[in-house]
Amino acid sequence: MAHEKGSDVFCSDAIRPGIFYKTEHMIAICDIAPVVYGHSLVIPRRHVLDVRELSDGELKDMHDTIKKVTPVLLRLYGDSSNSYDLTAQIGEYSGMSVRHLHFHIIPRNKTDEYQKGDKSVFDAIEHVKRLDEQEYAKRVAILRKELNWSE
Ligand SMILES: [Zn+2]
Repeated sequence: MAHEKGSDVFCSDAIRPGIFYKTEHMIAICDIAPVVYGHSLVIPRRHVLDVRELSDGELKDMHDTIKKVTPVLLRLYGDSSNSYDLTAQIGEYSGMSVRHLHFHIIPRNKTDEYQKGDKSVFDAIEHVKRLDEQEYAKRVAILRKELNWSE
């Protein structure tokens, strides 16, 4: 099925190496500049800016994808606390970086460096550095294997 495309990076082939799970309407990728190990994004395949633009089918698929991917991220990168941030910035004044809807899933645990409260992890999203290609590919491969997904 063809999806409407925009001119942003999430609509381009540049993200293909980072995809570790894909459904009819959603993809999951490793964030190229993760704030913690396992920081991932769930992204609609259709170009939309706002969660309110998603159809019922896309919303269900988004929910199912988050449900499928999050336990794997928590098992590999979180701890037994089941702690994670699930967040999306929507609209011009929200801090939305890429102008295409995306949900951050950020596994959290008591030893991470962001225990001062919500704000510190979101500040970090703006400032962390990108992974090198080799390390990125390694992390993607681990998640593809865990989710039995291949292109
Ligand atoms: Zn797009």
